[in-house]
Amino acid sequence: MRSGIGYDVHRLVAGRKLVLGGTDIPYEKGLLGHSDADVLVHAVCDALLGAAGLGDIGLHFPDTDPKYKDVSSLTLLAQTNVMVREKGFSIRNVDTIIFAEAPKIGPYRKSMQENLAAAVNIDPGCVNIKATTTEGLGTIGKGEGIGAMCVVLVE
Ligand SMILES: [Zn+2]
Repeated sequence: MRSGIGYDVHRLVAGRKLVLGGTDIPYEKGLLGHSDADVLVHAVCDALLGAAGLGDIGLHFPDTDPKYKDVSSLTLLAQTNVMVREKGFSIRNVDTIIFAEAPKIGPYRKSMQENLAAAVNIDPGCVNIKATTTEGLGTIGKGEGIGAMCVVLVE
């Protein structure tokens, strides 16, 4: 058994679509990044790569590579899953936290859970999504960005 941790933050800006956990969320701003900037999926990728001893997301999917421009991060997660399984690991569970002052995550939780589970080929019951605000504190509390953390267990 091995565990892995992932953490990511992206800036919220006007004129971008907000995609979290592979789900489009109607909001006045979206996350800025080279790909779709899906901060939750990036944290999951990093946790899986960490558990398998495969470095980090920037190593495998560099944001200087035009191939990854505006790509759905679920594609990156599916590719990460292949790498993790090629190293002989299977994924036992994925636990996550989204840090966001707004919008409300609750209505999209199930859809995100199903997207993540499908991308790594596990039962949705093995994927957990939590969300919290930072009580108005710091840059995330001011609505300047959204963060995410993930812990995984592989065997
Ligand atoms: Zn990211």
